[in-house]
Amino acid sequence: MDYAREKQVAIEAVTLAARLCAAVQAEMAQPGALEKGDRSPVTVADFGSQALVCRHLTAAFPADPIVAEEDSAQLQRPENADRLGQVLYYVQQTHAFASPDDVCRWIDAGNGPVASRFWTLDPIDGTKGFLRREQYAIALALIERRQVQVAALACPNLPLDLDEPASAAGVIFVAVRGQGAAMARLGSSDFAPIRAASAGDRLRFVESVESGHGDQPLQKAIAAAAGITAPSLRMDSQAKYGVLARGDAALYLRLPSPKQPDYREKIWDHAAGSLIIEEAGGRVSDMHGRPLDLASGPQMANNRGVIASSGDIHTAVLAAIRTQETSTDKNE
Ligand code: AMP
Ligand code: MG
Repeated sequence: MDYAREKQVAIEAVTLAARLCAAVQAEMAQPGALEKGDRSPVTVADFGSQALVCRHLTAAFPADPIVAEEDSAQLQRPENADRLGQVLYYVQQTHAFASPDDVCRWIDAGNGPVASRFWTLDPIDGTKGFLRREQYAIALALIERRQVQVAALACPNLPLDLDEPASAAGVIFVAVRGQGAAMARLGSSDFAPIRAASAGDRLRFVESVESGHGDQPLQKAIAAAAGITAPSLRMDSQAKYGVLARGDAALYLRLPSPKQPDYREKIWDHAAGSLIIEEAGGRVSDMHGRPLDLASGPQMANNRGVIASSGDIHTAVLAAIRTQETSTDKNE
């Protein structure tokens, strides 16, 4: 199976969603955020993006479940009627005759089950980065036979060339298992293959901007133990996987936050990025070297943290973590 159609539909879906997110960012001075049950923010653009992607996927693959981050419950509350109206306004730029009910139905098409074949979507990964007008991503992956087979990752604010921050922004990464990873300017179909750099070339690591989404002091120490002493590149969202896959860094560290030791990573935060880095020649695992389990449920219950790398440095990083854990155990 070559997944050509899935790849094309995924590219179209995240491109439509990226356009909606960029329009919200350009037009709304403050795309005010609602707070979800876990206290994380959700905006008009998160809802609009999920509606467009689910609508596009469902039209092409009606039998495929979608496991996505958002649902319409909050949006349907009477006090959020204005918010629903704003989502509708942006969705209507693609589907002129959409109704509020359509929008909620399309969003809730993303509440499907994990199955033998399903899509997983983060309609805006890095909502905090989106609110800061920094990096965010629309992340979509097809999982079949327990493995990510197709990934599309749109990064509307990512410069084509990180060393030239003024270079055009807006990048899309795609990968199909066994076919390599590629990158194009967002909106163009001119894809060029990408490869993760050997660690020697780009000796720096990437981590989240949000200190609460990891363990930054430990990440610094582990990177140093593996030979990386340059300051980290801090970036929101799965754009981190993209820059790693195109050789802008050698390592991505995401160790569990000491403040939330029981946090479990969500599949939509890693599915697309993990295939892109693997197909670019890199490696991905949890902090103990276990493969990411992206097919047992929405949470990666059997994994702790995430490590992604250009490949060659991976073993040294896992060894540094083991050493660190052993010395912590001894001190306890
Ligand atoms: P990033 O931009 O890399 O920080 O990733 C953003 C994602 O972090 C969000 O989509 C959340 O699902 C996820 N997240 C929220 N809380 C935590 C946490 N305590 N540890 C790790 N990831 C988290
Ligand atoms: Mg996310």
